Amino acid sequence: MRTALQTQEKRTYQAVIGLEFHVHLATRTKMFCSCRVTYGEEPNTHTCPVCLGHPGALPVINEKAVELGVMAGLALNCEVAPRAIFARKNYFYPDLPKGYQISQFDAPICTNGHLDVPTPEGTLRVGITRVHLEEDAAKNIHVGESGRMHGSVGSLVDYNRGGTPLIEIVTEPDIPSPEAARATANHLRAILQAIGVSEADMEKGQLRCDANVSIRNPDGSFGTKTELKNMNSFRFVERGLARELERQQQILESGGRVEQATMHYDPETDEVHELRSKEYAHDYRYFPEPDLLPLELTAAWVSQVKSRLPELPEERRARFVEQYGLSEYDAGVLTADNELASFYEEVAAEADPKQAANWTTGELRARLNEAGIDVSESKITPGHLAELIGLVENGTVSRSAARGVLATVFDTGDSPSAIVEREGLASVGGDELSGVVDEVIAANPSEAERVRAGDNKVVGFLVGQVMRATRGNADGGRVRQLLAERLNGQ
Ligand code: ADP
Ligand code: ZN
Ligand code: MG
Repeated sequence: MRTALQTQEKRTYQAVIGLEFHVHLATRTKMFCSCRVTYGEEPNTHTCPVCLGHPGALPVINEKAVELGVMAGLALNCEVAPRAIFARKNYFYPDLPKGYQISQFDAPICTNGHLDVPTPEGTLRVGITRVHLEEDAAKNIHVGESGRMHGSVGSLVDYNRGGTPLIEIVTEPDIPSPEAARATANHLRAILQAIGVSEADMEKGQLRCDANVSIRNPDGSFGTKTELKNMNSFRFVERGLARELERQQQILESGGRVEQATMHYDPETDEVHELRSKEYAHDYRYFPEPDLLPLELTAAWVSQVKSRLPELPEERRARFVEQYGLSEYDAGVLTADNELASFYEEVAAEADPKQAANWTTGELRARLNEAGIDVSESKITPGHLAELIGLVENGTVSRSAARGVLATVFDTGDSPSAIVEREGLASVGGDELSGVVDEVIAANPSEAERVRAGDNKVVGFLVGQVMRATRGNADGGRVRQLLAERLNGQ
């Protein structure tokens, strides 16, 4: 994004981004009834008069949901409100049988926190405006080829999802770029998963993100924002924001004005288009939910919840620096992804921790990004990586051959030693390597002579010849050493 915006010679544009997350809480039952929370089951099999909105049915607050919501707020350094109030948010849609959603409005459970996001440029502090509790709506299923409402032949409603406990997390507009928005979202997800508040599986719709974005006015004040709705992948959050910023920039450059609107990003066409004009809080006629008492959260209860908070990614990061001697940056990269951090710890238990970090943050992460999967979905295990590091350390394979082995483990799930054996990748060493060095010297007498005369530039050429003869399966340092011994008597 930054490059795109800064290629304009005359002006640079400053992006302003704030995110809103909807997160399913990891409770067994729904927010206001005892129906089970389920995914992918037969539609409309987990419903009752409460979550179907039958007249006269009364909601009962799920205590576990309150606890998880508060836990999330505490992990985000929020203040927990001593008194929180549920409110009705009124609107009509088939996925909302009551005609209103029970949410929180002016008295949410948590406010005023922050999140420290590790980025390549350093730590970015993103303010957390609020965390509030609410229930999810049901799921609309649009029948037809596209699966979207547009062009569908009819719509069905699955009320199993209706009433699932949610928290909404709202950030301050503190995020300066689409890349930073993605990093913020990733870091937030890592925290939620680490503390067990949510599985935050985006494919199951357990975590959804809306992104608000504007371009700062020349005088530094905020510009008009638009909102990109309901993105279910952080890659799309980043790409959608970049496209929307380009659109806003073009409007401003042609002398136009950005209009407040709700936008949709289509990853297939990589385009944004307007969904509807923006709605405002007053459109919802919020009022306190008369069927529920205010939530009174005592200091004693809150401190109990706090004492149960497990290690947070920031704490884990500090521990990685301390315990394994990693750089702040590597520790940050690892702990930004809860699964990757756990994977790393298992590798580091069996192999050199620094090598384990290099391989995990470097080669392994590159393969994961390429495949677009999480480490738990890949075929490689911590045992595999520890074994591979061992093979490099004891000189069985060269570092460059090991990279290829890792790629093969990644694709096949076979063990590194089996792959080395099968593909004949074992390093050439010992007498065999000495023999190859002698042959190369004999075959290149004039180059060898120049090295003897002290022309070190030619050493690289001879090293290259040895590597070629061993098909890359030799340790470069060892080859240099052998050449020096032969030619310079060192
Ligand atoms: P609304 O009244 O539209 O709901 P809010 O002030 O409640 O707006 O903010 C909603 C989200 O939009 C928050 O995440 C906030 O950080 C973000 N936001 C607010 N103003 C801007 C802006 N000018 N540019 C980008 N994001 C913004
Ligand atoms: Zn129910
Ligand atoms: Mg708002």
